[in-house]
Amino acid sequence: MDVTILGTGAPLAPGRATTGLLVTAPGCEPLLLDTCGGFELARRVVAAGFALPDLRNVVVTHRHLDHSGGVPALLLANLPLAFYGSEDTQAGLDGLLAATYPEWPPQSGVTRPVIAAGERRGIGGFAVEFFAVEHRVPTLAVRVSHGGKTLAFSADSLPCPALVACARDADLFICDAICAARDGEGWAEHARRLMHPIAREGAAMATTAGAGALALVHIGRFADPDNIRAEAVEGFSGPVTVPDDLARYTV
Ligand SMILES: [Zn+2]
Ligand SMILES: [Zn+2]
Repeated sequence: MDVTILGTGAPLAPGRATTGLLVTAPGCEPLLLDTCGGFELARRVVAAGFALPDLRNVVVTHRHLDHSGGVPALLLANLPLAFYGSEDTQAGLDGLLAATYPEWPPQSGVTRPVIAAGERRGIGGFAVEFFAVEHRVPTLAVRVSHGGKTLAFSADSLPCPALVACARDADLFICDAICAARDGEGWAEHARRLMHPIAREGAAMATTAGAGALALVHIGRFADPDNIRAEAVEGFSGPVTVPDDLARYTV
């Protein structure tokens, strides 16, 4: 299973796209987890060596624009895609589309499966599970398994038991961490208000979960990636990375 991180930044991060992960494996349909923040998705998919028509299945973890914003771009591409999201996320997508391209006709082949926490679905050859995590709006963390390997993705979430369960024994845990405590207590408090973990909290969850490796993303404009990595390695003994956009992991 290969995971290409299309975007590693928080909404205002300079030089980073916002959250999107492309998961591929032999014999499986490419699976997109979150859609970056808008039309940047189209450019990031191509920069990663794929084409938009390669996509079949899209999971949107929550309605925030830095995760859902690429959905209109995908609809404009007239592709037969399945957009998986919770009831709240689907309502958010309805509002986004109504506000932006209300005249765009329904596309044949587009489906909008509603997903809920606790479900396990087969999606394009992957086994995908969803966990209700703690964020400002209803949000699902995602666990993807294939060929005996597992990827866990936090979406956006404060530390919580559901996110640890999502990451349990995962080979790779991709966790949002908007900054490190050493970026400044004011920023750490800002992270808590925004309901994101900081680096040491992501590391603690990875340790509790027994994850094999940790990648920290959703980097804030006020964060130093070196601080994030340095803080995480103090709390997690496995490999820690703070990737740039288009980083690729083999799980
Ligand atoms: Zn969010
Ligand atoms: Zn976000």
